Amino acid sequence: MAATVGPKRHTVNGIRANLNPNPNHSHNHNNSGLLNSHQSSSNANVNNCFSNTSNSQQFGHRAAVPVAAVAPTSRSRPRISMSVSMSLVQGGAAGGAPQGAILAAAAPYYQPPAVPQDVQPDRPIGYGAFGVVWAVTDPRDGRRVALKKLPNVFQSLVSSKRVFRELKMLCFFKHENVLSALDILQPPHLDFFQEIYVITELLQSDLHKIIVSPQHLSADHIKVFLYQILRGLKYLHSARILHRDIKPGNLLVNSNCVLKICDFGLARVEEPDQAKHMTQEVVTQYYRAPEILMGARHYSSAVDVWSVGCIFGELLGRRILFQAQNPVQQLELITELLGTPSMEDMRHACDGARSHMLRRAPKLPSFSALYTLSSHATHEAVHLLCQMLVFDPDKRITVTDALAHPYLDEGRLRYHSCMCKCCFTTSAGMRQYTPDFEPSAGQPFDDLWERKLTSVQQVKEEMHKFIAEQLQTGRVPLCINPQSAAFKSFASQ
Ligand SMILES: [Zn+2]
Repeated sequence: MAATVGPKRHTVNGIRANLNPNPNHSHNHNNSGLLNSHQSSSNANVNNCFSNTSNSQQFGHRAAVPVAAVAPTSRSRPRISMSVSMSLVQGGAAGGAPQGAILAAAAPYYQPPAVPQDVQPDRPIGYGAFGVVWAVTDPRDGRRVALKKLPNVFQSLVSSKRVFRELKMLCFFKHENVLSALDILQPPHLDFFQEIYVITELLQSDLHKIIVSPQHLSADHIKVFLYQILRGLKYLHSARILHRDIKPGNLLVNSNCVLKICDFGLARVEEPDQAKHMTQEVVTQYYRAPEILMGARHYSSAVDVWSVGCIFGELLGRRILFQAQNPVQQLELITELLGTPSMEDMRHACDGARSHMLRRAPKLPSFSALYTLSSHATHEAVHLLCQMLVFDPDKRITVTDALAHPYLDEGRLRYHSCMCKCCFTTSAGMRQYTPDFEPSAGQPFDDLWERKLTSVQQVKEEMHKFIAEQLQTGRVPLCINPQSAAFKSFASQ
């Protein structure tokens, strides 16, 4: 698929990166950690990250195959994994990374013989409400990874429990379309435990950057992206997790068009008790479901489906579907498309919102406007989109039913032909498909532990213990290199 993109354009997002199959980028880097090389093209990063076979072996990942290689050929055969023994040979604070690198090994370790030549400097790649993310090098294997700092963890009971929940979720997830923790940095002694650093896979781009770029998006791109969003979301919902902030910026994309849902800062376990109030301070406004806009006290996983519908429309039209200045106008734009909802459809709304709606002149639905989004807005696409953009959350399509829609058949086939890790190609060139294309979580995510935590100190102790348990993997733990100039910049953010 990436091959359909014109090869000469230069953009900052990663999905064209495979067009340059054998890059020879060299980077000038000094020992100071190098904020100033932020300008280095992300294409270079892409290739360093994903063409380096030794990088993915540590985590048992098979090397991804470029999307262009659709036909099951020997090229899409998984690479043979190689184990690296952990015998104690040298103490290495920096390993294969530059001296000024943020990450260091917390103990002596064996350095694998193949040290990557093209070590890149640490650099910031994202900032969110719940932390800052840097692209850094794992000194144990030279692999480029994302380092996320979860700041202000222990300011209050609410914030510390939220961070603990996010951390537990990142360690719980095991799904190709959901970002998970690869590692956690070794925390200092409990008395000095203030911040938490998590390492995840590094993806070069996200759907927001791709949508606003001049890059061509084919119907196949849209189908395979939507398929993966729903595939990841099915897994989350089957674990009883509501993401509550599905938006293009939280859908990371790598150079092979593999998509992963990230940022679980607002995620929580669904609330089965309808009488219990849930916070309305969720979901970025453009992607916020009408029931939240109308003050519903209780809502379900259907809020995530609404967000996916908005993103589907945005992929088709290359612009935000409902781009309003404030929540009232947001609802206004939604009703312009869907028409005024019936009283029945507004039964979850609060009284004020319902009477506001009834005071407005009634509007008729105008779904035909969706056909004008783009030439990719076919009958099938609009049919599925209309089932996601349903005012009443109880009538909105579920993720599982959406995945059964014929519009997604091609996306499923493409994904499992050459992009997934659940299927493989035999030496005879036959594709062996997994029996379950869209797996559910084996068990629901448990949040009962949260109720037992009643003080910040208690959360701190439990989290410290939890991290120590996660680190019992046999791998040399990582820690921060406080001498790194880049870290000083990182820590101040
Ligand atoms: Zn597969």
